[in-house]
This record gives sequence, structure tokens and C-alpha cells, in this order.
Amino acid sequence: VFVCFEGGEGSGKSTQSRLLSDALAAEGYAVRLTFEPGDTAVGKEVRRIVLSPETGDLDDRTEALLYAADKAEHVETVVLPALARGEVVVTDRYVDSALAYQGVGRGLDKLDQRGTSALEHVARWATGDLRPHLTVVLDLEPEAGLGRFDERDRIEGESLPFHQRVRQAFLDLAAEDPAHYLVLDARADVDTIAAAIRERVAPLLAQ
Ligand code: C5P
Repeated sequence: VFVCFEGGEGSGKSTQSRLLSDALAAEGYAVRLTFEPGDTAVGKEVRRIVLSPETGDLDDRTEALLYAADKAEHVETVVLPALARGEVVVTDRYVDSALAYQGVGRGLDKLDQRGTSALEHVARWATGDLRPHLTVVLDLEPEAGLGRFDERDRIEGESLPFHQRVRQAFLDLAAEDPAHYLVLDARADVDTIAAAIRERVAPLLAQ
């Protein structure tokens, strides 16, 4: 079972992915909690490059390809092996982050004749088109999330409209495929959100 958490800055993805994996582990499931970008040796380097202020302004496509490289390494060396061992994989960010931040946020989502963007092709190719059973979107208005955001990196300097586009992109992805998404108001209290997620994951574990 493969579960992803998505959402904007300060929406509580790290907290909720941790709570879900702890809850499942306490129930006896083998769980691999992971994240993008950065949960592999290569990914750590990628994260340093894309998020370090010293890098300065990266070209948008350079940035998108670096994130794709992180994904390829992550899926191949972390996600797939854990799934093969029968573990529940819980990841903080995945393909939808690329579609939302680089695709919609940076405007790299120009569609081709088949209605897919090159960016989406690259992200799907990087991950071998591995799709999560469930993506949890923690929805929060950027004004609220950025207030809570304390990581000092260049992303913080992005404009509010950028973060508003990203937020809408997550909601649009969820609306296109409701069977594979759970959208929750990130302003609800932590335990309420955790319980809603746990309930939605239950039927996946029974399969
Ligand atoms: O989720 P986390 O806070 O670790 O993400 C680090 C930063 O990377 C975030 O500020 C997010 O905006 C950015 N990011 C991005 N594009 C992605 C994934 C993450 O801009 N595809």
C-alpha cells in the first residue's frame, strides 16, 4: 500500500505522515515513512541544490529535472523495494508536488496534442508511472501556511500568487480523480485530521 501526502507549506504533511505511520506501526504493520525531495543520498544533494539560497535562481526546467532525478532515485531505491517487502509506504510529497509546483506554479504544464505536459511525462517516466493508492491533500490557504513556515530557503520568497496556484493545482488533481484522493482542511485539529486519514486508509489495508 502506497500513501502520499501533498499540500502547501505549513499544511502539516510531515506531522500527519508521521502520525499515520506511527499509528500503523503500533497496529503491527511494517511501515516505511519517507519524503521528497531528499530521502536518498542523491536526493539529499538534489535537495541541497534546489533549496539552498546559494544556488540562486535556477532555470525552471533545470529545477524540474532535478526534482525528477530525486523522484527516480527515490522510487527505485526506497519506495519499490519497501513495497516489494510488503511494507506500507507513506511519503511526504510525490509526483503531485512536481505537477503543482513546477507544472502549475512555474507554468511548465503546457499540454501537447495528447493532452499531457512534457513535465508530467517526465515525472511519470521518472517514477515508472508508479501511482499511489491514496493521496492525502492537506488544504490550507497559503497566507496561513506561510506564517507557520520556518525553513529558511528561497521558496519562502515566492509570491503569494505562486502559492495560490500551487494550492489550486492540488485541489484540481484531487477533483479529477476523487477515488484516489482525500482532501482535508488543514486547519482542523491534528487528531481529527489523523483520524480521518486513518479511516480512509483502513480499506486499503484490508485488500
Ligand atoms: O515538503 P518540504 O517542506 O520538505 O519541501 C521542501 C520545499 O521544496 C518546499 O518549500 C516546497 O515548496 C519545495 N518543493 C518544490 N517542488 C517540488 C517539491 C518541493 O518547490 N516538486
